[in-house]
Amino acid sequence: MKDYYDILGVPKDASQDEIKKAFYKLAHKYHPDKGGDAEKFKEINEAYQVLSDPEKRVQYDKFGTSFEGAAPGGQGFSGFNWQNINFDDAFGSPFSNFGDNFGEDFDFGDIFSEFFGGSARPKRKTSTQNKGRDLEITTEITLEEAAFGTRKEISFKTYLVCDHCHGKGYEPNSEVRVCPQCKGEGVVREARRTMLGTFTQIIECPKCHGRGKIPEKPCQVCGGDGRYYATKTVMVDIPQGVRQGETIKIKGEGEAGILGAPNGDLYLKINLKPHPVFERKGDDLYLTLDISFPEAALGTEKEIKTLDKKTLILRIPPGTDSGEIFRLRGKGIKHFNTLGFGDLYITIKVTTPKNLSRRAKELLEELKKELD
Ligand SMILES: [Zn+2]
Ligand SMILES: [Zn+2]
Repeated sequence: MKDYYDILGVPKDASQDEIKKAFYKLAHKYHPDKGGDAEKFKEINEAYQVLSDPEKRVQYDKFGTSFEGAAPGGQGFSGFNWQNINFDDAFGSPFSNFGDNFGEDFDFGDIFSEFFGGSARPKRKTSTQNKGRDLEITTEITLEEAAFGTRKEISFKTYLVCDHCHGKGYEPNSEVRVCPQCKGEGVVREARRTMLGTFTQIIECPKCHGRGKIPEKPCQVCGGDGRYYATKTVMVDIPQGVRQGETIKIKGEGEAGILGAPNGDLYLKINLKPHPVFERKGDDLYLTLDISFPEAALGTEKEIKTLDKKTLILRIPPGTDSGEIFRLRGKGIKHFNTLGFGDLYITIKVTTPKNLSRRAKELLEELKKELD
């Protein structure tokens, strides 16, 4: 059994960066164009294709083996998702000893193609199959950013189109020839002996991985996939009025596709940070305003700082009770899809004086007598 970590000389918990660096170093050393060992280069590339793909790496770590689903170049059986198959359910108990045979030479694809008809049969690669996955990223923004809109830099790890080969998967000066094994068909017929008998079936061409063409020189940077795993940075316009939990779709900014196939989309989920002053409900804003007892009794004017840092004067009439709410129309957040703004609600809180001076006490005693 091949140990991909050993092949790349990285620890089991190596980061994507470490894996990538190790691969570049070894690929450079063993590249056939530079007189390196072609077999060794193939092995390095295979290890990298699995370990650099977070999904394949999890599969590999879990099953500890290299099966078709984790074949080099991300090819394997197209349209077939190993994660969706529960082996026990698929085979039932009579076949429970299959687990022991789940080694590198045992090909589940053969069995599945018989059991599930065409579902496991390799298909000719199309751009849909190679399309990059959609990604969802969560970003935290402030209430001000949500209220007025902003432009935000979002960084995340994903596949990027290889800038060396521009997604083609081969070196710029490489010739591309028709695959000699499949004659450009991308598939070959093969008789395979399995535990259930011998079957003749159509499988993906192992030489060209279903592409029908073979480049003389695979891209040295991406290893032939036309994409590599790295940090991507996207500038996103966050629209004015966006709400907590809303998702913004940014077309084509998800994972890069294989060999120049279309990118997936990026879904940016909005998480609002709590604001120290304002609370948001829908497009309305709420704040609590402390006033003193004399201010409540006599009436006053108070300065209010709105979210856009403007100063408003709030007139508080004489005899205002604690808990009374004043509404400032249109001073909330701009509606997302319609015209207009929400309102600003100000809740009055009358503070009770504490640690009274002797003079203050005397005045309050007098006031008490006056009101009795
Ligand atoms: Zn072929
Ligand atoms: Zn490349």
